[in-house]
Amino acid sequence: MSKQANFYESVERNYDKAAALTKHPKGLLEQIKVCNAIYQMNFPIRVGKDYKVIEAYRVQHSHHRLPTKGGIRFSHLVNQEEVMALATLMTYKCAIVDVPFGGAKGGVKISTRKYDAEQLEKITRRYTVELVRKNFIGPGTDVPAPDYGTGSREMAWILDTYQQLNNGELDSAACVTGKPVAQNGIRGRTEATGRGVFYGLKEMLSNEADCKKWGLAPGIEGKTMVIQGLGNVGSYTGSISIKEGGVKVVGVSEMEGTIYSPKGIDIDKLVKYRKAKGTIMGFPGTKKAKDRGDWVGIECDILVPAALESQITKANAKQVKAKIIAEAANGPVTADAETILLKKGCIVVPDMYLNAGGVTVSYFEWLKNLSHVRYGRIEKRFDQNAYTNIVELVESLTGKKVGERRKSFITRGADEVDLVRSGLEETMITSYQQIREVFNKRKKVTDLRTAAFITAIDKIANDYKAMGIFP
Ligand code: NAD
Repeated sequence: MSKQANFYESVERNYDKAAALTKHPKGLLEQIKVCNAIYQMNFPIRVGKDYKVIEAYRVQHSHHRLPTKGGIRFSHLVNQEEVMALATLMTYKCAIVDVPFGGAKGGVKISTRKYDAEQLEKITRRYTVELVRKNFIGPGTDVPAPDYGTGSREMAWILDTYQQLNNGELDSAACVTGKPVAQNGIRGRTEATGRGVFYGLKEMLSNEADCKKWGLAPGIEGKTMVIQGLGNVGSYTGSISIKEGGVKVVGVSEMEGTIYSPKGIDIDKLVKYRKAKGTIMGFPGTKKAKDRGDWVGIECDILVPAALESQITKANAKQVKAKIIAEAANGPVTADAETILLKKGCIVVPDMYLNAGGVTVSYFEWLKNLSHVRYGRIEKRFDQNAYTNIVELVESLTGKKVGERRKSFITRGADEVDLVRSGLEETMITSYQQIREVFNKRKKVTDLRTAAFITAIDKIANDYKAMGIFP
């Protein structure tokens, strides 16, 4: 049996496929492809009476725009090629959603279950010191964010460590995003990637002609969904799709196994249940699948891998029954698996577009930190007064009253979270339309991933051309 392409090889193969359909010079395409800087480090951490040597990475894929940007992953599976693949995807992701950063990613090779909070704090702080020492972190150089195994808590530790080492730096809060709101974070960041997945799916299903071509009923409402990974991205994708899209989640897979229910699974309740019991198994109203891996073959419209890379491979791709594979995780479908899925008539919505909500809102957070003011603070009350004046003028001209509840709804000024969600929705819609145009207008482009790659390559090539390098 031939060897399966690993994550980085899959990313390279997909890039080459798309690059061959562009007219950019060979040298420029090579420059866009390669990783610009790779920092591998090993540092000791005291655990009990002994020391443990921790292996960690930060990869900056592209310096064509600065700062570079990308999450930090804590996982025992971390390796250099994985971090390179993730950093590479970040560059294309940022280009697709017009976030003016180069791509980067960090990885710390640890199993978070084997360390307590105090030890994780030590590891995170020491990792940050290593990044500072090599100038691999800073508001204008490289800005990390959460990824698999990390969240706002780790980002707060990173910020604190950075500020201790850069006392008095005015913009230091912008050295990392995904921070707690009380620590210069932004409302709406935690949910952002899952919410972006929802907006992306909603947009692609809103075009009647496309849906007809794909053999799908238009609209997201009533579609069934199966999710792998009930972490940050998976849980928000499920919860928001149910509440705002009318989707039915019929299957969920986690480390401990897979559950399903054709009647639908309440994701908010399932998250609480797992927190309390430490497992999704036994959730009321659901049945247990025979194997954990069975999630791939559950009957549904939208399959959402939201855990890790290389989950749908050539070994299980044939089992997929869903029409849409929504890449909420990075790299969950291998290049070999995608060939099989496309032959089956599936639509793979690519990671570099679909999960870009996280970096989009991270960009908003970075801007907020640099401007030192919360979104909505200046204009909220002004807008509210202006809308009230309009409603009252209409009331006096018509002699009819709008009613207090409706009036307060119409006249409300936007809060930070409203503006963040609005900016995210706009970004996901506009970016999808750009990819769709490439997909529909270029005959040789037969899948959304290639269309997304071409969209990104064209934008990055334009940046290089504007710099006067590769004229
Ligand atoms: P997370 O750590 O919050 O959650 C991941 C979940 O997947 C965990 O609950 C874990 O137990 C589960 N999981 C791991 N292996 C599994 C398996 N084999 N079967 C079933 N479940 C499994 O991580 P996250 O932040 O939600 O990230 C998930 C994916 O989304 C990653 O690929 C990440 O790179 C990508 N992503 C995350 C963000 C973000 O903002 N957090 C942004 C873009 C992309």
